[in-house]
Amino acid sequence: MKNEELFERAQRSIPAGVNSPVRAFRSVGGVPPFLARAEGAYVWDVEGKRYVDYVGSWGPMLAGHTHPAVVAAIAEAASRAISFGAPTQAEVDLAELICKLVPSVEQVRLVSSGTEATMTAIRLARGYTGRDAIVKFEGCYHGHADSLLVKAGSGALTFGNPSSAGVPADTASHTFVADYNDSAQVKKLFAEKGGRIACVIVEPVAGNMNLVLPQRGFLETLREECTRHGAVLIFDEVMTGFRVALGGAQARYGIRPDLTTLGKVIGGGLPVGAVGGRREIMEKLAPLGPVYQAGTLSGNPVAVAAGLATLKLVAESGFTEKLESTTRALVDGLAQEGKRADVAFSAQCVGSMFGLYFRATPPQSFAEVMQCDRERFNRFFHAMLEQGIYLAPSAYEAGFVSAAHGKKEVDATLAAARVAFATVS
Ligand SMILES: *Cc1c(COP(=O)(O)O)cnc(C)c1O
Repeated sequence: MKNEELFERAQRSIPAGVNSPVRAFRSVGGVPPFLARAEGAYVWDVEGKRYVDYVGSWGPMLAGHTHPAVVAAIAEAASRAISFGAPTQAEVDLAELICKLVPSVEQVRLVSSGTEATMTAIRLARGYTGRDAIVKFEGCYHGHADSLLVKAGSGALTFGNPSSAGVPADTASHTFVADYNDSAQVKKLFAEKGGRIACVIVEPVAGNMNLVLPQRGFLETLREECTRHGAVLIFDEVMTGFRVALGGAQARYGIRPDLTTLGKVIGGGLPVGAVGGRREIMEKLAPLGPVYQAGTLSGNPVAVAAGLATLKLVAESGFTEKLESTTRALVDGLAQEGKRADVAFSAQCVGSMFGLYFRATPPQSFAEVMQCDRERFNRFFHAMLEQGIYLAPSAYEAGFVSAAHGKKEVDATLAAARVAFATVS
């Protein structure tokens, strides 16, 4: 079976042929490879072509693909039970490990996706404060719940379609949107509307508008303003959790949010999300408190086994250090190749997330992200794909390195980049 044939077939029975928009390659054009197999740092498509993978299922595959310990944990769990809908020991083990690793999390509830986690966090913040308004930042993506699909990033950005049809104007009207890294604007918003604001939700490192790092003082301002005005600070660490640092961005930057949402890595590639935080807030959740939340497959034993096995690998000493040095070597090498080709290009990383930008310096705001040369990225992307390097198919996505990536993969990537930069210079 060929990619092209499958894409044809897919589009007949699935809208655009995909089950999540960015996979359709609309931003970069062309036919997406249909993937069939993965191992370590590599994925193979149905035509048997091998790629070095920098998507990693959009973040979850931190330990590398089909890690033997994770595969064994899944097989063992599945051989005992696939689902109960009743309490299990494994979910207690996972909850305890999350509470231990993520500094601000005292209690945690497991759900099945990042979207569910952020949706629950918002409801919890509203139930706890008795207020309706929320604050989010342009270009930050928090899943596809109604109130959060306002000026969102990721696929919503790729399509130049910042909000979505089907979101009631009434719902969106409770969402205030501010500029990422603009502390003065946040202060002004709180000064004017503080009494109405239930929460601020933020990606502490923005990874859905390419990669944008928090400027010094930005996260601190959010913490101070939320405390001063009795609002809940939510760090959406669905992407950054266990990746930007073992304890997430909150550990790296030393800021304690009230609630944290997790996903991606905590499922190790199977569907797990989580919302956790201060006990006093978490105890508002049903059946202890008045904020309703539930899930038939929440804490699914097979998914939890995958997550637990992955987190145990990630928590091993030296794991994060090796990842960071591989990512650093990749980013420095790419920047050097860009310079050699005399292309306006920059790159940066934090933990094992990286951003590639077709502009001279890394962007510090959504507006600067929009100044990147998208057309050039698209040509670079296809030149890399052609040579077996699988980058995220959009100029507005971050890249991910796994523990299975090493010098060999970095060298192969840099060699391919030299050719790719020559085609775009
Ligand atoms: C991926 C992501 C989500 C959504 O998670 P899903 O599992 O895709 O629903 C939410 N927030 C952030 C920061 C993400 O990167």
